[in-house]
Amino acid sequence: MDAPAPPTPSGPSEVPVVEYRGEELAILFDTISDLTSTLCLREVIERLLDRVLVHLDSEIASILLTGPDGRLRIRHSCGLPEEVVASTCLGLGEDISGYVARVGSALLIEDIEQDSRFRRRNHERYYTRSAISVPLRIHGTVMGVINVNNKRNREAYTPDDLRLVEAIAGHAAVALFNAQRFEETLERAQHDALTGLANHGYFWSTLDREVERARRYERQLSVAMIDVDHFKRFNDRYGHVAGDEALAGIARVTREWSRVHDFASRYGGEEFALILPETGSEGSFAVAEKLREAVGAARFSHAEPGGLTVSVGVATFPQDAHTAGQLVEIADARLYQAKAGGRNRVCAGG
Ligand code: GH3
Ligand code: MG
Ligand code: MG
Repeated sequence: MDAPAPPTPSGPSEVPVVEYRGEELAILFDTISDLTSTLCLREVIERLLDRVLVHLDSEIASILLTGPDGRLRIRHSCGLPEEVVASTCLGLGEDISGYVARVGSALLIEDIEQDSRFRRRNHERYYTRSAISVPLRIHGTVMGVINVNNKRNREAYTPDDLRLVEAIAGHAAVALFNAQRFEETLERAQHDALTGLANHGYFWSTLDREVERARRYERQLSVAMIDVDHFKRFNDRYGHVAGDEALAGIARVTREWSRVHDFASRYGGEEFALILPETGSEGSFAVAEKLREAVGAARFSHAEPGGLTVSVGVATFPQDAHTAGQLVEIADARLYQAKAGGRNRVCAGG
C-alpha cells in the first residue's frame, strides 16, 4: 500500500488562523451553514447582518459593497436611517469604512472621538462611541466592509467581539462573492446583450408565470408582439451596425413607453414582445398605439426621423386565449394582419 501523501502546506488564507472556543465554533459553523445555503445575494446579506447583530448583541449593522467605480455604498443595513443608506458613497480611505477598505484589515474603535486615526465627533445615531469595521476580502481584494455599532450594554466592543466578526466575515465574503457571481450570470443568461431587454427564454418563463397568476386571481393580462417594418431594407441601406443601433433605440423607446409592471423583451431578431399584466384589450391597445407612435417619431442611427415603424399584434387573457402559447399565437396572427393591412399599425381583438 502506498504511504499516505504528506500534508500539503496551505497557502495564505483569507480567514485568520486562530483557535476558537467551542461556543465560537458553534456560532461560526451555524453562520457558515446558513450563509452558504442560498445563492440569493440579498438573503446572504440579510442573514449575515442578522447573525452579527445577534452574536454581538448590537442594534446597528451595515454592509457596504465596492461598486465598479471602486466606491463603497451601503447595500443593506439594520438600524440606519434610509437617507444615510441612500446617500453614503465613500472613496478609498474615506471615513471608517473607506479606511478599512484601504488598509484591508479589521478595526476595533473604542472611542471614535479619541481615536487618533479619525478624531471626529460621534454621530448622534450611535449611543456608544465604539464600533467594529471589518473588510470582506476575497482573492486578495476588498469587496466590501461590514460595520457594527451600538452594543446594547452600551460598553465598548472587545477584542473577542472583533475576532468573531472577523471570522464570520472571512467566510461570509466567499458566500457573498458566489452569490454576486451567480446573480451576474443569471442576469446575463436572462437578458439580450444588444438591447439589454429580457431575452426569449426569460419572456416565456415570465409569461407562463403571469398567465398562471392571472388565472388564479381571475385577472386580465395582455401580450403585444412587435415587429419592425421593412427592417431588411433598413439594414441594406444603412448597414448592420446602424441596424443594431436602431434595435437598441427601439428597445429604449419600448422601455420608456411601457409601465412599471410591464415586461419588455426582445423576442428574437427585429421582434419584441411586451407582457402587460392587469391589462385588458383596450388598455393594451392604448399602450401599443403609444409605443407605435413613439417609434415612428424617433430618429434611429443615421436614418431620417420616421425612418422606422413597427407593427403590433395584441392578445388578451382570458377573452382571446387561455394559455401562454395560445396568447402568443393569437398576438402573432394579429401582427400579421397589421402587416397585411399596410404596416405601422396595431391590431387587437374586440
Ligand atoms: P416586415 O415589415 O415584413 O417585417 O419586413 P422585414 O424586412 O422587417 O422582415 P424580414 O423578416 O424580411 O427581415 C427581418 C430583418 O431583420 C432581416 C435581418 O437581417 C434583420 N435583423 C434581425 N436581427 C437583426 C440584428 O440583430 N441586427 C440587425 N442589424 N438586423 C437584424
Ligand atoms: Mg420579423
Ligand atoms: Mg420585420
